[in-house]
Amino acid sequence: MIDFHCHLDLFPRPQAVVSEVEAARIYLLSVTTTPKAFAKTARLPTKASRIRTALGLHPQLAHERHQEVELFCRLISETRYVGEIGLDGGDEFARHIVLQKEVFNRLLRSCSEAGGKFLSIHSRHASGEVLEALEQHPGCGTPILHWFTGPIRDAERAVEMGAWFSVGLPMLRSKRAGSLLAKIPRERILTETDAPFASTKGDAYPQEALSSAVAELAKHWKCAPVDALETLSVNLRTMVGLKHAARALQRMHPA
Ligand code: MN
Repeated sequence: MIDFHCHLDLFPRPQAVVSEVEAARIYLLSVTTTPKAFAKTARLPTKASRIRTALGLHPQLAHERHQEVELFCRLISETRYVGEIGLDGGDEFARHIVLQKEVFNRLLRSCSEAGGKFLSIHSRHASGEVLEALEQHPGCGTPILHWFTGPIRDAERAVEMGAWFSVGLPMLRSKRAGSLLAKIPRERILTETDAPFASTKGDAYPQEALSSAVAELAKHWKCAPVDALETLSVNLRTMVGLKHAARALQRMHPA
């Protein structure tokens, strides 16, 4: 199974969760919310792990942590994965939107300079603004819109731009799931938990939420859960391969 957006470092006992995830052989993107959290979080998985750690600066923390943009730029060469980054236009955070955009644009510029990144992106109540910023930084890498809840037209625009989507149970069980999934090609979808914020009961890793998400996707795709699982695993391999393709191209045509 694949969990492409999970906050391992925010569980009360991260090491226990890591052991469980590794034993279950889950491919997991461990996102962080501040650049300062990256080094410690990156040390959680064992060497042979299917866990990858992403460098992030959460939009809901941008007004408190914008000084850490410098640290983000210094650490960017240490990972191929970036997140959680993005914009949040919700009631509590809209008043910081100008600063959020400034931070987001600087992070995207840093990704563009580094090249070949995979970006897990938050776009709550700001999907239009997020897509605008991504359009201004076409070299930033492969965007994966996490827990997308924006308007259908933004979903279509994101698909046209080459964006991917990571979807979890709350989204898949929402009223709009059907209309959104009708617009997103199944070749661009990965699963996620966003644990421990969503899908979680207690302090343990929510494995059932992940298998339920696969079952919900299978319903939408009108296929068996085992086939949905296979599609998702092909998707992950394809997506990671995009980076290899870009690298091979760089080797042939060094800049
Ligand atoms: Mn998150």
